Amino acid sequence: MSDFTTRITPDGVAILTWDVPGRSMNVMSLAGLSDLEAQVDAALADPAVKGIVITSGKRDFAGGMDLNAIARMRSAGGDNPAQSIFDGVMAMHHLLRRIERAGMDPKTLKGAKPVAAALPGTALGIGLELPLACHRIFVADNPGARIGLPEIKVGIFPGAGGTTRLVRKLGALGAAPLLLEGKLSDPRTAQMLGVVDEVVPPDDLLARACAWVLTASDADCVKPWDRKDYRMPGGTPYHPAGFQTFMGASAMVSGTTMGAYPAARALLSAVYEGAQVPFDTALRIEARWFTHVLLNPSSTAMIRSLFLSKEALEKGANRPRVADQKVARLGVIGAGMMGAGIAHVAAAAGIAVVLIDTTLAAAERGKAHSASLLDKALARGKGTPAERDAHLARILATDDLAALQGCDLVIEAVFEDPMVKAEVLPRAAAAAPGAILASNTSTLPITELARAVPDAGRFIGIHFFSPVDRMALVEIIRGKATGDEAVAKALDFVRQIRKTPIVVNDARFFYANRCIIPYINEGIRMVGEGVVPALVEHAAQMAGMPVGPLQLVDETSIDLGVKIAKATRAAMGTAYPDDAVDAVLFALADQGRMGRKAGRGFYDYDDKGKRQGLWPGLTQAWPPAAQQPDVTRVQHRLLMIQALEAVRALEQGVLTDIREGDVGAILGWGFAPWSGGPFGWLDILGADRAVAICAELTAACGHRFAAPALLTDMAARGGAFYPPATPRAVA
Ligand code: NAD
Repeated sequence: MSDFTTRITPDGVAILTWDVPGRSMNVMSLAGLSDLEAQVDAALADPAVKGIVITSGKRDFAGGMDLNAIARMRSAGGDNPAQSIFDGVMAMHHLLRRIERAGMDPKTLKGAKPVAAALPGTALGIGLELPLACHRIFVADNPGARIGLPEIKVGIFPGAGGTTRLVRKLGALGAAPLLLEGKLSDPRTAQMLGVVDEVVPPDDLLARACAWVLTASDADCVKPWDRKDYRMPGGTPYHPAGFQTFMGASAMVSGTTMGAYPAARALLSAVYEGAQVPFDTALRIEARWFTHVLLNPSSTAMIRSLFLSKEALEKGANRPRVADQKVARLGVIGAGMMGAGIAHVAAAAGIAVVLIDTTLAAAERGKAHSASLLDKALARGKGTPAERDAHLARILATDDLAALQGCDLVIEAVFEDPMVKAEVLPRAAAAAPGAILASNTSTLPITELARAVPDAGRFIGIHFFSPVDRMALVEIIRGKATGDEAVAKALDFVRQIRKTPIVVNDARFFYANRCIIPYINEGIRMVGEGVVPALVEHAAQMAGMPVGPLQLVDETSIDLGVKIAKATRAAMGTAYPDDAVDAVLFALADQGRMGRKAGRGFYDYDDKGKRQGLWPGLTQAWPPAAQQPDVTRVQHRLLMIQALEAVRALEQGVLTDIREGDVGAILGWGFAPWSGGPFGWLDILGADRAVAICAELTAACGHRFAAPALLTDMAARGGAFYPPATPRAVA
């Protein structure tokens, strides 16, 4: 069965309908490209056809490229994958260019058959690159549709002409946010930006596109860049205005990526070099840089974690096989920062929420958090007043635990105090008989908290990250006695609120905090050793961490750090390894430098809370050593300390699936996304090199860097965490 079918209307419009059999969303495969090519060629050659409309038989137009296609191009190349990928990409360019020229005489630019794209809904990746090669793009007025080129988010860039065409169409400045940030727009915004041409009522979509095709003139079918007088909007790199844009873009990319993301730099090179040559040469340049990026291990790792694994986890890869556990009525106890956030995201998903605090006023304050988020969204043009009111009507704020009656999931988010939790949990169980009970604790072992509930099998950890409305990850913690139904309930709830779950077994700090605390500590430890604080922070960002460890501890607060340090020392006794960290941390706390919330910490802040720079007192208290480590050494310390913790979590069975370890690390605390996560990073290094780095760091810095047996065994076997790249899904 073909991915495309052609129907010719009585007045001579060939309607090519993209409708991949057996899928809810169209994705482009190599077979799909051949189908498209054959049908475009047939329509162009058929004298009865006056023009072509390319549309979709589904609700949306297309979700993007099937990553199998790229994997196949790579493997077909044997020893020379670069050539094979390049040839495959060029074949795609030739096809899209044929659609764009549509049989026109290259000298007179006359005689093309008009080609329109008619998009019923979402059009992403090649789903927009194909329309960009058409002469006019019609989109159905469907505010939920998303139009854009999100490739950069998974470590590649638009490589089917999207980069070259969008820059030629909008200029480098106009195209920059769409290409470099992968910004998606609804149809009207896409029209305003100049990406698409017409937004039309959904029922008129095909008729309007066909009518245009039948009346389009020769001039309507010539792309601006195929005209002799074409000038790139905003200017080319050697034009005075263009010069500034390109210089600015280059600085911006270096500033935001700190050189850690190969795709952003390659994209910029393709744009810069492509802007100075004729269109067809620019496509070749785009294809070369695209090939370059596809061969970089970072792109494979990012696609794997941020696309394939993330999607698999969201679809329930590790969900126990029990009946549907969707939440109908949620109870949230504690309407503070976290409880209010949880109530908000649940209500946004259409779930009825009972939000409880010790006083009605406190519960109402929690609900007011939702009102404030919804008002801000409204001011940005998101949602309607009626939707806001309906959202708020779903949250019942109360101080009465009896209101939990009828809830099928109850999450407590009261103070992080085992006594307070132990007091509230049994009362919640009594008020909501039959409900699954959950705790949002970030540090208290679930297995111990479970002692307070009548049925430990129906008790689980559901750990959200702050701010709840923005953080995509939810860490689900299975206590020793937690049963499958509770796990399924938590997973189904996370799916309802459209976040990404990982399921881990109970252990001190679970998974995310277990890895992030050593990262912060390693940064603080270096300050104590006399490593220049700016070197610590910059090395972290150059390694791809979104924030340096010192900034991070300022954000989460120094007093929280002190509290965790004291609790860890109490639990570990003489084995406690972090005295050197505490010397620095406690000194800041003693001076009232509690972090951002106090307006002073490792950094100074102005009256509005804006970060000003590292506190000069740091280098007075801990003078920089005469000999500073090189950047790579600092980076290795900061990344390896996290990666080793992830490996230990796997070794100890806290993690049971490395995909969860990688996805959780990127979404939970921003572990260098370019690497695909800690396991992805270790694979990029190679186990033997990772073990060698561990040996060096152990000798220089201490036993905390000793490679776990799992890693040394892997190095000895020549193994890796992931099998060689075989992507199996779509982007
Ligand atoms: P918070 O202090 O902002 O809110 C706690 C709320 O619980 C307060 O409104 C308090 O009045 C209420 N409360 C206390 N005892 C109660 C009781 N017996 N019945 C009803 N309400 C009661 O705290 P938070 O930051 O929202 O943290 C709540 C929980 O979430 C803690 O377990 C914390 O460890 C966890 N957590 C916090 C974060 C974070 O970044 N703050 C992140 C993940 C998890």
